[in-house]
Amino acid sequence: MSSKPAEQKSGQLVLPGERLGVIEEFVPDAGTFVKDGVIYSEVVGRALHDLATRHVSVHPVGRGVVIPKVGSIVVGQVVGAQPENANVRIFQVGDKALSGIFMGVLHISDVHLRYVDSMFEVCKACDIVRAKVISEKNQVYHLSTKDKELGVIYAFCSACGATLESRRQNMHCPKCGRIETRKTAFDYGKDLI
Ligand SMILES: [Zn+2]
Repeated sequence: MSSKPAEQKSGQLVLPGERLGVIEEFVPDAGTFVKDGVIYSEVVGRALHDLATRHVSVHPVGRGVVIPKVGSIVVGQVVGAQPENANVRIFQVGDKALSGIFMGVLHISDVHLRYVDSMFEVCKACDIVRAKVISEKNQVYHLSTKDKELGVIYAFCSACGATLESRRQNMHCPKCGRIETRKTAFDYGKDLI
């Protein structure tokens, strides 16, 4: 036995069914279950790998924990946009704030019912979007804005940062007069977040 002091890997947020290790490495403890020699989390919580006792447990982060699911309508901020994808930091599901940080990806083919040329016509970094979760893999949520209630709900001028106003097909900056393009939700600028 080594005389190393108890080491604990601190609390990464895990979801039910998330892999925590294998039984050759760890002893499954509270908040876990084992299937085919693999230890999974049973609950939403913070995983604790105790490297001294080789126990792994998950401490639930309380009731009413909100996480996105397939079918959820989420609200998030665009943190980066490329021609074919936009990355969205999801901070709200329905009207509830989230426990933890969840990342979503919006692909150009899931933006609109019609063909869209480039993500830059859809959204830009800092915009606030409302989207639907269409799938989830490794805690990355794939988003769609195909319905009319989905899309950008707040957009900001690329030149001066002012909140853009929606005018028919275009977005208009009240401060510097710049015209931009977005895929907006029908209630653009009216939702309280
Ligand atoms: Zn402007």
